[in-house]
Amino acid sequence: MCLKSISHSLNAFFLTPMQLPVPITVATGDGIGPEIMTQTLRVLEAAGAALAPEFIEVGEQVYRSGQASGIGPEAWESLRRTRVLLKAPITTPLGGGYKSLNVTLRKTLGLYANVRPCRSLYPAVATRHPQLDVVIIRENEEDLYAGIEHQQTPDVVQCLKLVSRPGCEKIVRYAFEYCRQHGRRKLTCMTKDNIMKLTDGLFHRVFMEIGREYQDIAQDHQIIDIGTARLADTPERYDAVVTMNLYGDIISDVVAQLTGSVGLAGSANIGDGGALFEAIHGSAPDIAGQNVANPSGLLQAAVLMLGHLGQHDVAARVHNAWLCALEDGLHPADIFHPETSRQKMSTVEFADAVIARLGQEPRQLAAMPVREVDAPVPTTRPMPLYGKAPVQQQLVGVDVFLRWDGKQAAALGQQLEQLTGHRLQLKLITNRGVKVYPDGHPETFCTDHWRCRFVAADARVSGTQLEFTPVLFLDVLALMHRLVDYQFYIIKTEHLYLMDGQRAFSLGQGE
Ligand code: NAD
Repeated sequence: MCLKSISHSLNAFFLTPMQLPVPITVATGDGIGPEIMTQTLRVLEAAGAALAPEFIEVGEQVYRSGQASGIGPEAWESLRRTRVLLKAPITTPLGGGYKSLNVTLRKTLGLYANVRPCRSLYPAVATRHPQLDVVIIRENEEDLYAGIEHQQTPDVVQCLKLVSRPGCEKIVRYAFEYCRQHGRRKLTCMTKDNIMKLTDGLFHRVFMEIGREYQDIAQDHQIIDIGTARLADTPERYDAVVTMNLYGDIISDVVAQLTGSVGLAGSANIGDGGALFEAIHGSAPDIAGQNVANPSGLLQAAVLMLGHLGQHDVAARVHNAWLCALEDGLHPADIFHPETSRQKMSTVEFADAVIARLGQEPRQLAAMPVREVDAPVPTTRPMPLYGKAPVQQQLVGVDVFLRWDGKQAAALGQQLEQLTGHRLQLKLITNRGVKVYPDGHPETFCTDHWRCRFVAADARVSGTQLEFTPVLFLDVLALMHRLVDYQFYIIKTEHLYLMDGQRAFSLGQGE
Protein backbone atom coordinates (compact mmCIF):
# COMPACT_ATOMS: atom_id res chain seq x y z
CA MET A 1 0.00 0.00 0.00
CA CYS A 2 1.42 3.42 -0.88
CA LEU A 3 2.08 6.15 1.65
CA LYS A 4 -0.78 8.34 0.40
CA SER A 5 -3.44 5.66 0.72
CA ILE A 6 -2.27 4.75 4.21
CA SER A 7 -2.25 8.35 5.38
CA HIS A 8 -5.68 8.96 3.81
CA SER A 9 -7.28 5.95 5.47
CA LEU A 10 -5.77 6.80 8.84
CA ASN A 11 -6.14 10.58 8.71
CA ALA A 12 -7.00 12.12 12.07
CA PHE A 13 -7.68 8.76 13.61
CA PHE A 14 -7.19 7.54 17.13
CA LEU A 15 -9.27 10.28 18.70
CA THR A 16 -10.69 9.30 22.05
CA PRO A 17 -12.86 11.44 24.26
CA MET A 18 -10.43 10.82 27.15
CA GLN A 19 -7.15 12.05 25.78
CA LEU A 20 -6.01 14.53 23.16
CA PRO A 21 -4.22 12.81 20.29
CA VAL A 22 -0.45 12.95 20.56
CA PRO A 23 1.32 13.87 17.30
CA ILE A 24 3.77 11.19 16.19
CA THR A 25 5.81 10.84 13.01
CA VAL A 26 5.32 7.62 11.06
CA ALA A 27 7.62 6.23 8.37
CA THR A 28 6.16 3.31 6.44
CA GLY A 29 9.53 2.14 5.14
CA ASP A 30 10.45 -0.25 2.34
CA GLY A 31 10.00 -3.94 1.52
CA ILE A 32 7.54 -5.39 4.05
CA GLY A 33 7.47 -2.00 5.83
CA PRO A 34 4.18 -0.66 4.41
CA GLU A 35 2.41 -4.02 5.01
CA ILE A 36 3.40 -4.33 8.66
CA MET A 37 2.93 -0.62 9.36
CA THR A 38 -0.62 -0.64 7.97
CA GLN A 39 -1.56 -3.58 10.17
CA THR A 40 0.18 -2.13 13.23
CA LEU A 41 -1.69 1.14 12.86
CA ARG A 42 -4.99 -0.75 12.44
CA VAL A 43 -4.38 -2.51 15.75
CA LEU A 44 -3.45 0.75 17.52
CA GLU A 45 -6.56 2.44 16.19
CA ALA A 46 -8.80 -0.43 17.26
CA ALA A 47 -7.18 -0.40 20.72
CA GLY A 48 -8.03 3.28 21.19
CA ALA A 49 -4.57 4.81 21.06
CA ALA A 50 -4.74 8.61 21.13
CA LEU A 51 -2.35 9.38 18.31
CA ALA A 52 -2.21 11.86 15.44
CA PRO A 53 0.24 10.42 12.92
CA GLU A 54 2.20 12.59 10.47
CA PHE A 55 3.50 10.44 7.61
CA ILE A 56 6.97 11.02 6.21
CA GLU A 57 8.88 9.49 3.35
CA VAL A 58 12.28 8.01 4.22
CA GLY A 59 14.38 5.24 2.75
CA GLU A 60 14.91 3.76 -0.67
CA GLN A 61 12.93 6.27 -2.76
CA VAL A 62 14.49 9.21 -0.95
CA TYR A 63 17.98 7.74 -1.43
CA ARG A 64 17.26 7.25 -5.14
CA SER A 65 15.99 10.84 -5.47
CA GLY A 66 19.49 12.03 -4.60
CA GLN A 67 19.36 12.47 -0.79
CA ALA A 68 22.40 10.47 0.37
CA SER A 69 21.05 10.39 3.93
CA GLY A 70 17.70 8.80 2.94
CA ILE A 71 15.69 11.58 4.61
CA GLY A 72 14.53 14.96 3.31
CA PRO A 73 13.96 18.37 4.98
CA GLU A 74 10.17 17.97 5.44
CA ALA A 75 10.72 14.74 7.35
CA TRP A 76 13.13 16.53 9.71
CA GLU A 77 10.51 19.23 10.28
CA SER A 78 7.96 16.65 11.36
CA LEU A 79 10.48 14.95 13.65
CA ARG A 80 11.37 18.27 15.27
CA ARG A 81 7.67 18.87 15.92
CA THR A 82 6.71 15.45 17.26
CA ARG A 83 10.00 14.12 18.72
CA VAL A 84 8.56 10.60 18.36
CA LEU A 85 9.06 8.37 15.31
CA LEU A 86 7.41 5.01 14.65
CA LYS A 87 9.46 3.61 11.81
CA ALA A 88 9.12 0.53 9.63
CA PRO A 89 12.35 -0.99 8.29
CA ILE A 90 13.96 0.57 5.27
CA THR A 91 16.23 -0.75 2.53
CA THR A 92 19.68 0.79 2.24
CA PRO A 93 20.63 0.68 -1.45
CA LEU A 94 23.83 -1.25 -2.11
CA GLY A 95 26.90 0.59 -3.33
CA GLY A 96 28.91 3.48 -1.98
CA GLY A 97 27.71 6.98 -1.19
CA TYR A 98 24.60 6.12 0.86
CA LYS A 99 24.62 6.76 4.58
CA SER A 100 22.70 4.53 6.98
CA LEU A 101 19.46 6.35 7.76
CA ASN A 102 19.24 4.61 11.11
CA VAL A 103 22.67 5.84 12.17
CA THR A 104 21.86 9.37 10.91
CA LEU A 105 18.57 9.48 12.85
CA ARG A 106 20.11 8.15 16.06
CA LYS A 107 22.99 10.58 16.01
CA THR A 108 21.13 13.66 14.81
CA LEU A 109 18.39 13.22 17.40
CA GLY A 110 20.85 12.18 20.13
CA LEU A 111 19.15 8.79 20.68
CA TYR A 112 21.91 7.39 22.85
CA ALA A 113 20.15 4.31 24.25
CA ASN A 114 18.92 1.40 22.18
CA VAL A 115 16.67 -0.79 24.30
CA ARG A 116 15.56 -4.25 23.18
CA PRO A 117 13.49 -6.29 25.60
CA CYS A 118 13.40 -9.96 24.51
CA ARG A 119 11.12 -12.52 26.17
CA SER A 120 10.33 -16.09 25.28
CA LEU A 121 6.66 -16.71 24.56
CA TYR A 122 6.79 -20.38 25.50
CA PRO A 123 4.67 -22.49 25.26
CA ALA A 124 2.84 -20.35 22.69
CA VAL A 125 5.91 -19.95 20.46
CA ALA A 126 8.46 -22.73 19.99
CA THR A 127 11.88 -21.94 21.47
CA ARG A 128 14.73 -23.87 23.03
CA HIS A 129 14.92 -21.24 25.78
CA PRO A 130 11.52 -21.05 27.52
CA GLN A 131 12.84 -18.98 30.46
CA LEU A 132 14.53 -16.27 28.37
CA ASP A 133 13.71 -12.75 29.59
CA VAL A 134 16.55 -10.34 28.86
CA VAL A 135 16.76 -6.68 27.96
CA ILE A 136 19.75 -5.56 25.90
CA ILE A 137 20.69 -1.91 26.39
CA ARG A 138 23.06 -0.83 23.68
CA GLU A 139 25.06 2.39 23.39
CA ASN A 140 23.76 3.92 20.18
CA GLU A 141 25.94 6.83 19.05
CA GLU A 142 29.62 6.02 19.39
CA ASP A 143 32.12 3.21 18.90
CA LEU A 144 32.81 2.05 15.34
CA TYR A 145 29.49 3.60 14.25
CA ALA A 146 31.07 7.05 14.24
CA GLY A 147 31.44 6.18 10.55
CA ILE A 148 34.95 7.63 10.26
CA GLU A 149 36.82 5.41 7.82
CA HIS A 150 39.84 6.04 5.63
CA GLN A 151 41.95 4.20 3.16
CA GLN A 152 45.43 5.15 4.22
CA THR A 153 47.65 3.14 1.90
CA PRO A 154 46.97 0.80 -1.03
CA ASP A 155 47.04 -2.08 1.48
CA VAL A 156 45.31 -0.68 4.54
CA VAL A 157 41.97 0.85 5.51
CA GLN A 158 40.93 1.96 8.98
CA CYS A 159 37.74 2.63 10.96
CA LEU A 160 38.00 4.82 14.04
CA LYS A 161 36.53 3.52 17.26
CA LEU A 162 35.53 6.62 19.22
CA VAL A 163 34.37 6.25 22.80
CA SER A 164 33.74 9.23 25.09
CA ARG A 165 33.39 9.45 28.85
CA PRO A 166 30.08 11.38 28.63
CA GLY A 167 28.82 8.80 26.12
CA CYS A 168 29.67 5.92 28.46
CA GLU A 169 28.22 7.69 31.47
CA LYS A 170 24.91 8.43 29.74
CA ILE A 171 24.30 4.85 28.62
CA VAL A 172 25.53 3.18 31.80
CA ARG A 173 23.44 5.44 34.02
CA TYR A 174 20.46 4.93 31.74
CA ALA A 175 20.90 1.15 32.04
CA PHE A 176 21.00 1.24 35.85
CA GLU A 177 17.97 3.55 35.98
CA TYR A 178 16.13 1.29 33.56
CA CYS A 179 16.83 -1.71 35.81
CA ARG A 180 15.44 0.15 38.82
CA GLN A 181 12.33 1.32 37.00
CA HIS A 182 11.57 -2.06 35.47
CA GLY A 183 12.44 -4.36 38.35
CA ARG A 184 15.52 -5.84 36.70
CA ARG A 185 17.76 -7.12 39.46
CA LYS A 186 21.03 -7.74 37.68
CA LEU A 187 22.98 -5.74 35.11
CA THR A 188 25.82 -7.36 33.16
CA CYS A 189 28.32 -5.18 31.32
CA MET A 190 30.03 -6.70 28.26
CA THR A 191 33.20 -5.32 26.66
CA LYS A 192 36.46 -6.52 25.15
CA ASP A 193 38.72 -4.59 27.50
CA ASN A 194 41.29 -7.35 27.71
CA ILE A 195 42.27 -6.21 24.19
CA MET A 196 40.99 -2.62 23.85
CA LYS A 197 42.15 -1.32 27.18
CA LEU A 198 41.50 2.38 26.52
CA THR A 199 38.18 2.36 24.63
CA ASP A 200 36.44 -0.70 26.07
CA GLY A 201 38.40 -0.14 29.28
CA LEU A 202 36.73 3.26 29.70
CA PHE A 203 33.26 1.74 29.26
CA HIS A 204 34.01 -0.94 31.87
CA ARG A 205 35.54 1.59 34.28
CA VAL A 206 32.52 3.90 34.02
CA PHE A 207 30.25 0.88 34.64
CA MET A 208 32.12 0.17 37.89
CA GLU A 209 32.16 3.85 38.93
CA ILE A 210 28.44 4.44 38.37
CA GLY A 211 27.59 0.96 39.65
CA ARG A 212 28.67 2.09 43.14
CA GLU A 213 25.55 4.32 43.22
CA TYR A 214 23.26 1.34 42.45
CA GLN A 215 24.11 -1.20 45.14
CA ASP A 216 20.53 -2.54 44.98
CA ILE A 217 21.30 -4.01 41.55
CA ALA A 218 23.63 -7.01 41.18
CA GLN A 219 26.45 -6.26 38.75
CA ASP A 220 29.03 -8.15 36.80
CA HIS A 221 31.27 -7.78 33.78
CA GLN A 222 31.96 -10.33 31.08
CA ILE A 223 34.23 -10.29 28.08
CA ILE A 224 31.94 -10.01 25.07
CA ASP A 225 33.00 -13.24 23.37
CA ILE A 226 32.28 -15.57 26.28
CA GLY A 227 29.32 -13.38 27.24
CA THR A 228 27.75 -13.89 23.80
CA ALA A 229 28.40 -17.64 23.98
CA ARG A 230 26.71 -17.86 27.39
CA LEU A 231 23.80 -15.67 26.27
CA ALA A 232 23.22 -17.99 23.32
CA ASP A 233 23.54 -21.09 25.52
CA THR A 234 21.81 -20.16 28.79
CA PRO A 235 20.06 -16.80 28.32
CA GLU A 236 17.97 -17.40 31.47
CA ARG A 237 21.11 -16.55 33.48
CA TYR A 238 20.82 -12.92 32.33
CA ASP A 239 18.45 -10.14 33.31
CA ALA A 240 19.78 -6.96 31.66
CA VAL A 241 22.92 -6.37 29.61
CA VAL A 242 24.58 -3.02 28.86
CA THR A 243 27.18 -2.92 26.14
CA MET A 244 28.85 -0.92 23.41
CA ASN A 245 27.34 -0.16 20.01
CA LEU A 246 28.71 -2.94 17.79
CA TYR A 247 28.53 -5.68 20.43
CA GLY A 248 24.97 -4.62 21.28
CA ASP A 249 23.94 -4.71 17.64
CA ILE A 250 25.09 -8.31 17.39
CA ILE A 251 23.93 -9.73 20.71
CA SER A 252 20.48 -8.16 20.50
CA ASP A 253 19.84 -10.04 17.23
CA VAL A 254 21.21 -13.23 18.78
CA VAL A 255 18.88 -12.96 21.77
CA ALA A 256 15.82 -11.98 19.68
CA GLN A 257 16.36 -14.97 17.43
CA LEU A 258 16.50 -17.25 20.50
CA THR A 259 12.93 -16.27 21.36
CA GLY A 260 11.75 -17.81 18.09
CA SER A 261 12.27 -15.24 15.31
CA VAL A 262 13.80 -11.83 14.63
CA GLY A 263 10.27 -10.96 13.51
CA LEU A 264 9.06 -10.87 17.14
CA ALA A 265 11.08 -8.11 18.80
CA GLY A 266 10.71 -4.35 18.89
CA SER A 267 13.22 -1.77 19.99
CA ALA A 268 13.28 1.74 21.37
CA ASN A 269 15.94 4.32 20.60
CA ILE A 270 15.82 6.84 23.42
CA GLY A 271 17.41 10.26 23.86
CA ASP A 272 16.76 13.32 25.97
CA GLY A 273 15.14 15.10 23.03
CA GLY A 274 13.24 12.33 21.26
CA ALA A 275 12.57 8.65 20.67
CA LEU A 276 12.42 6.28 17.72
CA PHE A 277 10.57 2.95 17.82
CA GLU A 278 11.06 0.16 15.29
CA ALA A 279 11.13 -3.58 14.76
CA ILE A 280 14.59 -5.05 15.04
CA HIS A 281 14.46 -6.76 11.65
CA GLY A 282 15.09 -5.32 8.20
CA SER A 283 12.83 -4.73 5.20
CA ALA A 284 12.84 -8.46 4.22
CA PRO A 285 12.71 -7.86 0.45
CA ASP A 286 12.53 -11.64 -0.08
CA ILE A 287 8.94 -11.73 1.26
CA ALA A 288 7.79 -8.17 0.47
CA GLY A 289 4.32 -7.75 -1.04
CA GLN A 290 3.25 -11.33 -0.23
CA ASN A 291 1.16 -10.62 2.90
CA VAL A 292 3.20 -13.17 4.88
CA ALA A 293 5.42 -10.95 7.06
CA ASN A 294 5.03 -11.09 10.82
CA PRO A 295 3.96 -7.63 12.07
CA SER A 296 4.82 -8.52 15.70
CA GLY A 297 8.18 -6.70 15.87
CA LEU A 298 6.66 -3.40 14.79
CA LEU A 299 3.64 -3.99 17.03
CA GLN A 300 6.01 -4.52 19.98
CA ALA A 301 7.83 -1.31 19.04
CA ALA A 302 4.44 0.45 19.05
CA VAL A 303 3.74 -0.96 22.53
CA LEU A 304 7.04 0.52 23.74
CA MET A 305 6.05 3.82 22.12
CA LEU A 306 2.67 3.85 23.86
CA GLY A 307 4.42 3.28 27.20
CA HIS A 308 6.81 6.13 26.38
CA LEU A 309 3.82 8.39 25.66
CA GLY A 310 2.17 7.43 28.93
CA GLN A 311 -0.67 5.47 27.26
CA HIS A 312 -0.02 2.43 29.44
CA ASP A 313 -3.55 1.06 29.35
CA VAL A 314 -3.64 0.98 25.54
CA ALA A 315 -0.15 -0.54 25.47
CA ALA A 316 -1.25 -3.30 27.82
CA ARG A 317 -4.46 -3.93 25.79
CA VAL A 318 -2.46 -4.33 22.59
CA HIS A 319 0.23 -6.47 24.19
CA ASN A 320 -2.22 -8.78 25.93
CA ALA A 321 -4.34 -9.22 22.78
CA TRP A 322 -1.15 -10.08 20.89
CA LEU A 323 -0.26 -12.69 23.53
CA CYS A 324 -3.79 -14.16 23.24
CA ALA A 325 -3.48 -14.52 19.46
CA LEU A 326 -0.15 -16.29 19.89
CA GLU A 327 -1.55 -18.52 22.63
CA ASP A 328 -4.42 -19.50 20.32
CA GLY A 329 -1.82 -20.85 17.90
CA LEU A 330 -2.53 -18.21 15.25
CA HIS A 331 1.00 -17.77 13.92
CA PRO A 332 2.56 -15.96 10.97
CA ALA A 333 4.80 -18.15 8.80
CA ASP A 334 8.13 -17.29 10.47
CA ILE A 335 7.03 -18.76 13.83
CA PHE A 336 4.77 -21.48 12.46
CA HIS A 337 5.64 -24.79 14.10
CA PRO A 338 3.57 -27.99 13.87
CA GLU A 339 3.66 -28.53 17.65
CA THR A 340 2.68 -25.05 18.79
CA SER A 341 0.74 -23.54 15.88
CA ARG A 342 -2.89 -24.08 14.96
CA GLN A 343 -3.19 -21.92 11.84
CA LYS A 344 -0.70 -20.18 9.56
CA MET A 345 -1.74 -16.53 9.38
CA SER A 346 -1.13 -13.88 6.76
CA THR A 347 -0.04 -10.42 7.91
CA VAL A 348 -3.60 -9.09 7.67
CA GLU A 349 -5.18 -12.17 9.30
CA PHE A 350 -2.77 -11.94 12.22
CA ALA A 351 -3.65 -8.27 12.79
CA ASP A 352 -7.36 -9.23 12.60
CA ALA A 353 -6.74 -11.92 15.22
CA VAL A 354 -5.08 -9.40 17.55
CA ILE A 355 -7.90 -6.88 17.06
CA ALA A 356 -10.51 -9.57 17.78
CA ARG A 357 -8.81 -10.26 21.14
CA LEU A 358 -8.50 -6.67 22.38
CA GLY A 359 -9.70 -6.59 25.98
CA GLN A 360 -8.76 -10.25 26.64
CA GLU A 361 -5.97 -11.47 28.91
CA PRO A 362 -3.71 -14.40 28.11
CA ARG A 363 -4.30 -17.70 29.93
CA GLN A 364 -0.74 -19.08 30.15
CA LEU A 365 1.63 -16.27 29.25
CA ALA A 366 2.10 -13.52 31.81
CA ALA A 367 -0.24 -10.63 31.06
CA MET A 368 1.25 -7.17 31.02
CA PRO A 369 -0.12 -5.13 33.92
CA VAL A 370 -1.35 -1.72 32.82
CA ARG A 371 1.16 0.34 34.81
CA GLU A 372 4.15 -1.89 34.15
CA VAL A 373 4.52 -1.64 30.42
CA ASP A 374 8.15 -2.31 29.64
CA ALA A 375 8.59 1.20 28.33
CA PRO A 376 12.06 2.69 28.35
CA VAL A 377 11.12 5.97 30.00
CA PRO A 378 13.94 8.52 30.12
CA THR A 379 15.61 8.62 33.49
CA THR A 380 14.49 10.97 36.18
CA ARG A 381 18.07 11.89 37.05
CA PRO A 382 19.93 14.57 35.14
CA MET A 383 22.48 13.06 32.79
CA PRO A 384 25.37 13.07 32.34
CA LEU A 385 26.73 13.47 35.82
CA TYR A 386 30.34 13.04 34.86
CA GLY A 387 33.06 14.82 36.78
CA LYS A 388 34.83 17.63 35.00
CA ALA A 389 37.96 18.02 37.11
CA PRO A 390 40.72 19.80 35.20
CA VAL A 391 43.12 17.32 33.58
CA GLN A 392 46.75 18.07 32.87
CA GLN A 393 47.59 16.90 29.35
CA GLN A 394 51.28 16.59 28.43
CA LEU A 395 52.74 15.70 25.06
CA VAL A 396 55.37 12.98 25.39
CA GLY A 397 55.80 11.76 21.82
CA VAL A 398 54.15 10.97 18.52
CA ASP A 399 53.18 7.96 16.43
CA VAL A 400 53.95 8.76 12.79
CA PHE A 401 52.21 6.45 10.31
CA LEU A 402 54.06 6.02 7.04
CA ARG A 403 53.29 4.42 3.73
CA TRP A 404 56.53 2.61 2.91
CA ASP A 405 56.74 0.05 0.14
CA GLY A 406 59.90 -1.67 1.37
CA LYS A 407 59.80 -5.02 3.15
CA GLN A 408 62.77 -4.95 5.55
CA ALA A 409 61.71 -3.25 8.79
CA ALA A 410 65.34 -3.03 9.90
CA ALA A 411 66.16 -0.93 6.83
CA LEU A 412 63.34 1.49 7.65
CA GLY A 413 64.35 1.61 11.30
CA GLN A 414 67.97 2.41 10.51
CA GLN A 415 66.99 5.22 8.13
CA LEU A 416 64.66 6.74 10.72
CA GLU A 417 67.26 6.48 13.49
CA GLN A 418 69.54 8.70 11.44
CA LEU A 419 66.88 11.37 11.10
CA THR A 420 66.13 11.72 14.77
CA GLY A 421 68.26 12.54 17.73
CA HIS A 422 66.85 15.99 18.51
CA ARG A 423 63.94 16.24 20.94
CA LEU A 424 62.31 13.03 19.68
CA GLN A 425 63.91 9.66 19.11
CA LEU A 426 62.66 6.50 17.42
CA LYS A 427 61.36 4.02 19.97
CA LEU A 428 59.86 1.28 17.82
CA ILE A 429 58.10 0.43 14.58
CA THR A 430 55.02 -1.77 14.29
CA ASN A 431 53.17 -3.16 11.30
CA ARG A 432 49.46 -3.84 11.94
CA GLY A 433 50.31 -3.58 15.64
CA VAL A 434 53.14 -6.15 15.63
CA LYS A 435 56.56 -4.88 16.62
CA VAL A 436 58.98 -5.22 13.73
CA TYR A 437 61.79 -2.91 14.88
CA PRO A 438 63.97 -3.19 16.86
CA ASP A 439 64.27 -6.96 17.33
CA GLY A 440 61.54 -7.93 14.85
CA HIS A 441 60.97 -11.47 13.64
CA PRO A 442 61.64 -12.28 9.98
CA GLU A 443 58.42 -14.36 9.85
CA THR A 444 56.15 -11.34 10.46
CA PHE A 445 54.07 -10.46 7.43
CA CYS A 446 54.32 -6.74 6.68
CA THR A 447 52.00 -4.45 4.70
CA ASP A 448 52.82 -0.96 3.37
CA HIS A 449 51.50 0.67 6.61
CA TRP A 450 54.10 1.39 9.31
CA ARG A 451 53.53 2.94 12.72
CA CYS A 452 56.75 4.64 13.89
CA ARG A 453 56.78 5.73 17.52
CA PHE A 454 58.93 8.68 18.53
CA VAL A 455 59.21 9.72 22.18
CA ALA A 456 60.99 12.42 24.17
CA ALA A 457 64.68 11.67 23.81
CA ASP A 458 65.37 12.01 27.54
CA ALA A 459 62.27 10.12 28.78
CA ARG A 460 63.05 7.70 31.59
CA VAL A 461 60.93 5.86 34.11
CA SER A 462 61.47 6.91 37.72
CA GLY A 463 59.38 4.80 40.09
CA THR A 464 55.82 5.03 38.78
CA GLN A 465 56.53 8.34 37.05
CA LEU A 466 57.87 9.12 33.61
CA GLU A 467 60.43 11.93 33.66
CA PHE A 468 61.19 13.93 30.56
CA THR A 469 61.65 17.44 29.23
CA PRO A 470 58.23 18.45 27.85
CA VAL A 471 57.78 17.84 24.13
CA LEU A 472 56.37 20.72 22.09
CA PHE A 473 54.18 20.56 19.03
CA LEU A 474 57.01 22.37 17.25
CA ASP A 475 59.24 19.35 17.99
CA VAL A 476 56.70 17.14 16.21
CA LEU A 477 56.55 19.54 13.28
CA ALA A 478 60.36 19.61 13.06
CA LEU A 479 60.43 15.79 12.99
CA MET A 480 57.79 15.67 10.27
CA HIS A 481 59.71 18.27 8.30
CA ARG A 482 62.81 16.08 8.36
CA LEU A 483 60.82 13.00 7.35
CA VAL A 484 59.26 14.83 4.40
CA ASP A 485 62.69 16.19 3.38
CA TYR A 486 63.90 12.59 3.21
CA GLN A 487 60.94 11.59 0.97
CA PHE A 488 59.02 9.68 3.61
CA TYR A 489 55.27 9.48 2.91
CA ILE A 490 53.41 10.45 6.08
CA ILE A 491 49.79 9.31 6.10
CA LYS A 492 48.86 10.42 9.61
CA THR A 493 50.12 11.16 13.10
CA GLU A 494 48.73 10.48 16.56
CA HIS A 495 50.06 12.38 19.54
CA LEU A 496 51.10 10.50 22.66
CA TYR A 497 49.87 12.14 25.85
CA LEU A 498 50.10 11.73 29.57
CA MET A 499 46.81 12.65 31.29
CA ASP A 500 47.51 13.75 34.86
CA GLY A 501 50.81 11.92 34.58
CA GLN A 502 49.23 8.64 33.44
CA ARG A 503 50.05 7.08 30.08
CA ALA A 504 47.06 7.66 27.79
CA PHE A 505 48.02 5.52 24.80
CA SER A 506 48.49 1.83 24.20
CA LEU A 507 51.98 0.46 24.52
CA GLY A 508 53.64 -0.97 21.45
CA GLN A 509 54.34 -4.69 21.84
CA GLY A 510 57.55 -5.14 23.80
CA GLU A 511 57.62 -1.57 25.21
P1 NAD B 1 16.04 -8.79 7.25
O1 NAD B 1 15.83 -8.66 8.72
O2 NAD B 1 15.27 -7.88 6.40
O3 NAD B 1 15.71 -10.30 6.80
C1 NAD B 1 16.40 -11.44 7.33
C2 NAD B 1 15.50 -12.68 7.19
O4 NAD B 1 14.45 -12.60 8.17
C3 NAD B 1 14.82 -12.79 5.83
O5 NAD B 1 14.73 -14.14 5.47
C4 NAD B 1 13.43 -12.23 6.08
O6 NAD B 1 12.44 -12.77 5.22
C5 NAD B 1 13.18 -12.63 7.54
N1 NAD B 1 12.32 -11.65 8.21
C6 NAD B 1 12.68 -10.42 8.65
N2 NAD B 1 11.64 -9.80 9.20
C7 NAD B 1 10.60 -10.65 9.12
C8 NAD B 1 9.24 -10.56 9.50
N3 NAD B 1 8.74 -9.47 10.10
N4 NAD B 1 8.44 -11.63 9.24
C9 NAD B 1 8.92 -12.73 8.67
N5 NAD B 1 10.20 -12.88 8.28
C10 NAD B 1 11.03 -11.84 8.49
O7 NAD B 1 17.61 -8.61 6.99
P2 NAD B 1 18.41 -8.43 5.61
O8 NAD B 1 17.82 -9.31 4.56
O9 NAD B 1 19.83 -8.57 5.98
O10 NAD B 1 18.19 -6.91 5.21
C11 NAD B 1 17.26 -6.48 4.22
C12 NAD B 1 17.31 -4.95 4.13
O11 NAD B 1 16.88 -4.39 5.37
C13 NAD B 1 18.69 -4.38 3.85
O12 NAD B 1 18.59 -3.34 2.90
C14 NAD B 1 19.13 -3.81 5.18
O13 NAD B 1 20.01 -2.71 5.03
C15 NAD B 1 17.80 -3.38 5.77
N6 NAD B 1 17.76 -3.29 7.24
C16 NAD B 1 17.05 -2.27 7.76
C17 NAD B 1 16.92 -2.17 9.13
C18 NAD B 1 16.12 -1.02 9.68
O14 NAD B 1 15.54 -0.25 8.93
N7 NAD B 1 16.06 -0.85 11.00
C19 NAD B 1 17.50 -3.12 9.99
C20 NAD B 1 18.20 -4.18 9.41
C21 NAD B 1 18.32 -4.27 8.03
